[in-house]
Amino acid sequence: MNVKILNLSRCAVASLCPARFRALIFDIRVLKARQRRVNLSNGIQVLQVIVFDDEHFMRRALLQAEYAAESGEVPVGAVAVLDGAVIASAHNQVESLKDATAHAEILVITQAAAALKDWRLVDVDLFVTKEPCAMCAGAMVNSRIKRVVFGLSDPRSGCAGSALDVTGFAGMLHKVEVTRGVLEDECAAIIRRFFETRRLGPQNSNPP
Ligand SMILES: [Zn+2]
Repeated sequence: MNVKILNLSRCAVASLCPARFRALIFDIRVLKARQRRVNLSNGIQVLQVIVFDDEHFMRRALLQAEYAAESGEVPVGAVAVLDGAVIASAHNQVESLKDATAHAEILVITQAAAALKDWRLVDVDLFVTKEPCAMCAGAMVNSRIKRVVFGLSDPRSGCAGSALDVTGFAGMLHKVEVTRGVLEDECAAIIRRFFETRRLGPQNSNPP
């Protein structure tokens, strides 16, 4: 399930101290939440908590990866999430921008910083379909990303713990929390399909 909606009565919420409320959220594996007060048909006002889990945001990143594939780019997509809301989304654009740094993660970090008017993204989670490379993992450290969530691990060049551990390196000024393997099969499939298609196409004589 990607979305849960909790209706908490006013007295139930009032009885919870902020710490207990956060614990409740944690208990039910709520990773991010949106809250609003709504009036039910029986006149009772409740705090409605709309909850999205990691899979929900990874599907948003996968959608970005689809856009990349449609543009002939290696299909990697990313979104930045703050307080349960997507504040930036991007896909790999190395070919279209003729820019080796135009990875999805770099573009989404730039967008998120612009949205927040701050380079410090201390409460931002970054969802990306593939484990970040050294450049992107370093950018996450420098921009103080709170957590990176990725789908497909990259044993050859992934730098969030697979080939290197840039996000958790003790000498860095900041450590990025890592959650791996979210929708890994789907994240792997989109890349596999892309390269299978390329092998069958005119690029066969000049593989990437
Ligand atoms: Zn990268």
